Amino acid sequence: MCLWADAYVGIKDFYFSEYIYSKPFWSVATPENNPTNETVISELYLDAAGKGLMISISTPVYFKDEFKGVVSLDVGLDYLSDVLYSYNSSLNNYASIITKNGVLAANKENIGINEEAIKLDKNTKTYKLTKKTDGYYMLSNLINGRFYLIYQLPNADFTRLVIKSIYGIQIILTLFIVILVLLLNLTKNLIKTKKMAESDGLSQMYNRMTLEKISNEIVDHAQKNDEPVSIIMADIDLFKNLNDQYGHHVGDAGIIHVASMIKQAIRKADIVGRYGGEEFVVTMPNTNIETAKLAADRIRQNIEKSTFYNDKKVTISIGVAEGQDLSAHSFHALCQKADLALYQAKKNGRNCTVKYSPDLENLTSKH
Ligand code: GH3
Ligand code: MG
Ligand code: MG
Repeated sequence: MCLWADAYVGIKDFYFSEYIYSKPFWSVATPENNPTNETVISELYLDAAGKGLMISISTPVYFKDEFKGVVSLDVGLDYLSDVLYSYNSSLNNYASIITKNGVLAANKENIGINEEAIKLDKNTKTYKLTKKTDGYYMLSNLINGRFYLIYQLPNADFTRLVIKSIYGIQIILTLFIVILVLLLNLTKNLIKTKKMAESDGLSQMYNRMTLEKISNEIVDHAQKNDEPVSIIMADIDLFKNLNDQYGHHVGDAGIIHVASMIKQAIRKADIVGRYGGEEFVVTMPNTNIETAKLAADRIRQNIEKSTFYNDKKVTISIGVAEGQDLSAHSFHALCQKADLALYQAKKNGRNCTVKYSPDLENLTSKH
């Protein structure tokens, strides 16, 4: 996945050709090339869209340790050169930006990089600068040792030029900080967009699609490792009456209230999502059905005791099921079991919890 500063691509339309995945802005930040997940700066490359030589500042985006893509900011070298050119006169004679590998990234006018003045010491990986008759070559680390500004300080009026050049460095530093802040904002927006796509707007829980995706992984993992896994399926009782009696907005407040009570009661490892209109599912790794039932009853009792929207009250019914000997699509099978138990809870008079047992199989789910 990749976002540019000047273009937004809808989340459904995110795909690129293989060609793009081979480009520096993508490849430098992928897990294979960037195992420490840092923000990386590519070597110089020629922009395919004809914008000339570019560098890209790329940040890998991870969600729950899973690599999701790269946020990349391209900076044209013409632009960097312009910045150098517009510098104060203390950088008049010589000013270049080089990468840590000694590749020239930008320089003033047509002055080539001065091989004599700047030499990379292969052992220490630092640059050796030599004093020239006409002044000193100075090297300044611009950004985490990845970019260096090299500039010449004439002998004359040394103190004044040092002060001025420090001022110049500050401008470049500010420019890079601005770029980095922009990059952070892009990353933040990308994460926000992803969160929106994964969650349900009303309850602020995972939506059904995400719930199913993560729960499938949890159930598969449990089966492979022979660990217990349980789910609880909760449904608000007589919710239609709440809507009919007080209006949809009170119904919505009821959903938000129940969602927040469930979220408060579950453990960090549990996954909760809105499964349907007024129905919620909690997937509980490493939990057997007895423990899941205790948790379910605690949630149910908390909701029974609580109020929302000017002392309104609701109750919930819950079906609990444990995943044992399940075949393919196991989370789906688990939901069917919990659904049967939930149906039985409704039949038993609501505001109660029922554990799945095979004898419920001849019931038809209708709630
Ligand atoms: P039961 O105890 O058997 O579950 O009865 P119920 O009234 O809760 O069940 P039913 O399935 O008849 O009604 C569910 C209602 O939930 C119907 C639907 O209009 C309402 N609903 C679904 N989603 C929303 C929502 O996002 N907001 C509001 N306000 N109502 C919703
Ligand atoms: Mg209901
Ligand atoms: Mg329902």
